[in-house]
Amino acid sequence: MACDFISLAAPGVQKLSPYQPGKPIEELERELGITDIIKLASNENPLGCSPRVLTAIESGMSELALYPDGNGFVLKKALSDFYKRPLEEITLGNGSNDILELAARAFLKPGDEAVFSQHSFAVYPLVVQAVGATGISVPAVEYGHDLVAMAAAITEKTRIVFIANPNNPTGTWVEEGELDAFLMAVPENVIVMLDEAYGEYVQPGELPDGLDFLGRYPNVIVSRTFSKAYGLAALRIGYAFAHPDITNVLNRVRQPFNVNALALRAAVAALGDQEFVKRSRELNAAGMQFITDGVHALGLGVIPSKGNFLSINLGREGLPVYEALLRQGVIVRPVTNYGMPHFLRVTIGSQAENERFLVALKTVLKAVA
Ligand SMILES: *Cc1c(COP(=O)(O)O)cnc(C)c1O
Repeated sequence: MACDFISLAAPGVQKLSPYQPGKPIEELERELGITDIIKLASNENPLGCSPRVLTAIESGMSELALYPDGNGFVLKKALSDFYKRPLEEITLGNGSNDILELAARAFLKPGDEAVFSQHSFAVYPLVVQAVGATGISVPAVEYGHDLVAMAAAITEKTRIVFIANPNNPTGTWVEEGELDAFLMAVPENVIVMLDEAYGEYVQPGELPDGLDFLGRYPNVIVSRTFSKAYGLAALRIGYAFAHPDITNVLNRVRQPFNVNALALRAAVAALGDQEFVKRSRELNAAGMQFITDGVHALGLGVIPSKGNFLSINLGREGLPVYEALLRQGVIVRPVTNYGMPHFLRVTIGSQAENERFLVALKTVLKAVA
């Protein structure tokens, strides 16, 4: 018998169940032998990315033998100029998931606690457990963060609180006033990770901008990504703004070349094309309305969302509907692992994809009725 390698793993790691990503199109093609599949399962941008990104990547192709700039100076300078904040506040990540993990590795040890909301992003409990700390999941209210209860859940063991605004997979959000009151209540030695992965999809001025809190609350980290509205999910690039001392700590645990050279170039080009971001936001808003109306017409409810996705309440087990949608060539996301077994999460796609999804959903619901 082979050695029990699982028992050799660190205690936190033994209990981990890996993140379940959306099903890849190629996998479903292999399984069903069908083509013409659409994927509305990973909150990817149906417009792709800015054409400027392709030019930027081409210009980096001749330098693949060289290590990237481990400090990512050019991108940091671009972010610093764009947001009018000091360079010393910026950490770059291999996706913003990397940022979440850096914070967990830098600030948590076994015995420490990290607070997050029920139904919030699955990566929070993962990064917390991986370092042997204890995740405290605070019951949600109407599927959204209960910031009053989250503040009350903070103990002297708490080192990090994770807040996703808007949250994935629910699309729920927190308002300026409640966030401000929460930050006021949080002790200064507790890090607040404000995850704004979907910030670009929010209409300007509609939700609090995490960066506005940095001055008043030096314990805040604002994390953002190029994976969603900028359409660079494949390249893995995200960033955070935080107090220079927090930034210093995050950079101690960061791998020296955590962000690749093509991603660095691509992100600079993407940041420079805000017209693309605006088009993405507008397409999303129209698609959100279209799918919401279509779902209501089928007699189903949704959780109001400010992301580029919508959680639909089927009023019945979601998994069989998910499976039936797969057979129609439509990949969405089951959220049973988020404690939402009666919901499916669908990413807002192009108009054609949204129409195809609604037709498939209608067909499938009729069949399983
Ligand atoms: C998608 C997502 C992220 C970012 O993922 P990366 O691709 O690693 O940047 C972060 N937080 C939430 C809530 C997300 O949904």
